[in-house]
Amino acid sequence: MKITIIGTGYVGLVTGACLAELGNDVFCLDVDQKKIDLLNSGGIPIHEPGLEEIVARNRAAGRLRFSTDVAASVAHGTLQFIAVGTPPDEDGSADLQYVLAAARNIGRHMKEFKVIVDKSTVPVGTADRVAAAIREELAEREAKVDFSVVSNPEFLKEGAAVEDFMRPDRIVIGHDDSHGGQRARDLMKLLYAPFNRNHERTYWMDVRSAEFTKYAANAMLATRISFMNELANLADRVGADIEAVRQGIGSDPRIGYSFLYAGAGYGGSCFPKDVQALERTARQYDQELLILRAVEAVNDRQKHILGRKVVARFGEDLTGKHFAVWGLAFKPNTDDMREAPSRVLLRELIERGATVAVHDPVAMHEAKRVLELDLGTAKLARVRFTDAPMDALDDAEALLIVTEWKAFRSPDFEEIKERLKHPVILDGRNLYEPDLMTGVGIEYHGIGRSVLT
Ligand code: NAD
Repeated sequence: MKITIIGTGYVGLVTGACLAELGNDVFCLDVDQKKIDLLNSGGIPIHEPGLEEIVARNRAAGRLRFSTDVAASVAHGTLQFIAVGTPPDEDGSADLQYVLAAARNIGRHMKEFKVIVDKSTVPVGTADRVAAAIREELAEREAKVDFSVVSNPEFLKEGAAVEDFMRPDRIVIGHDDSHGGQRARDLMKLLYAPFNRNHERTYWMDVRSAEFTKYAANAMLATRISFMNELANLADRVGADIEAVRQGIGSDPRIGYSFLYAGAGYGGSCFPKDVQALERTARQYDQELLILRAVEAVNDRQKHILGRKVVARFGEDLTGKHFAVWGLAFKPNTDDMREAPSRVLLRELIERGATVAVHDPVAMHEAKRVLELDLGTAKLARVRFTDAPMDALDDAEALLIVTEWKAFRSPDFEEIKERLKHPVILDGRNLYEPDLMTGVGIEYHGIGRSVLT
């Protein structure tokens, strides 16, 4: 099938590459000329396991192309996927300017029936606004062209995006009952047929419910995380071990084990902004989402947890003190630094006068870029980036762990002890067992399994 993807970011690039891998003819559009040039020269703008190979293979086969040519992109695909960003506006609502700009471009250039697929995470009612924007453009040039807008939210996880796209738990598609809506349904059914071979994974619903489903999923996941983080902080105070508690409750199938890990807070481009946007939608309808307000507040506080533990252990004034930090990306297997808890920690350490040596397996380049914006050049000079994790440890008061990269799971604890000034680990992701740490002579503080509160 001929497919256009508008917005070649995390979601757009993965969607485009994976659909090309299945034999579709995919045209990826972006307004960012540098990104398109990079992709056309064989480069890849993001770190995502398996993606580079798929992009290279399908470019070489002529099934995947990258361009900034809007008219050509509209002409290409019967299916026009909108996968542009929907960042938070000043009031927390989703900023739809990129989605609506993409819609207007389609309306301006389309000459025959198109299905517009909203893949970006967009508030309930956005499909109507997309349709209105297209209709306005058509009216402007007095064109009569049929189209249908469907909602097909994306559930992939950064760090496992290719795998998630290729083996989805579910595919959610919202469409309407109009003639165009039925045609759109048939085309979407055809497109996703390869994913439904073993069993049907597609949930068909009305457009508004599909739009809502994406926010409901992210809000639920964020709620589980904040719930466990709040309990973990109490566990620290009462002397319980949150990991034991997690296993104790996860074994109940009504609760389950997933997404029950206490830590240094959630980040990334999705949970923070989607929780805010859903709250904002509710307020527009005169309802307050009390649970989600608390989820957000708990998470904002939790991003300071490692900073608080550092202060509890080393004092308020960190002048002249040096710390090692492992992990900068908001989660493993990605170089995404958006809303990463490491940014809050580093700002806090630097503001209190400390110097820091940091290591991340893939996010160093992106981290330098965002930390320069966060801290400014002068303060960034107090952050040293090291290529190897162990090189960050020399002369540090303690090792602070922010991202649960696999490579950090079984380090050489003897070397850690030797290189640190004091054998202290403050672990924001509960990677190690407190008993084992005591056994190897390391003072260890996790989240919800520590004496530091
Ligand atoms: P991103 O910022 O990585 O990519 C968006 C891309 O769109 C950018 O390359 C930008 O240059 C481009 N763009 C903006 N306006 C454009 C236009 N008018 N025409 C063409 N290109 C344009 O964003 P992302 O992380 O891929 O997220 C995209 C959407 O998918 C968001 O709504 C997000 O909430 C949702 N989503 C993201 C994830 C994730 O893990 N990143 C998962 C599920 C859903």
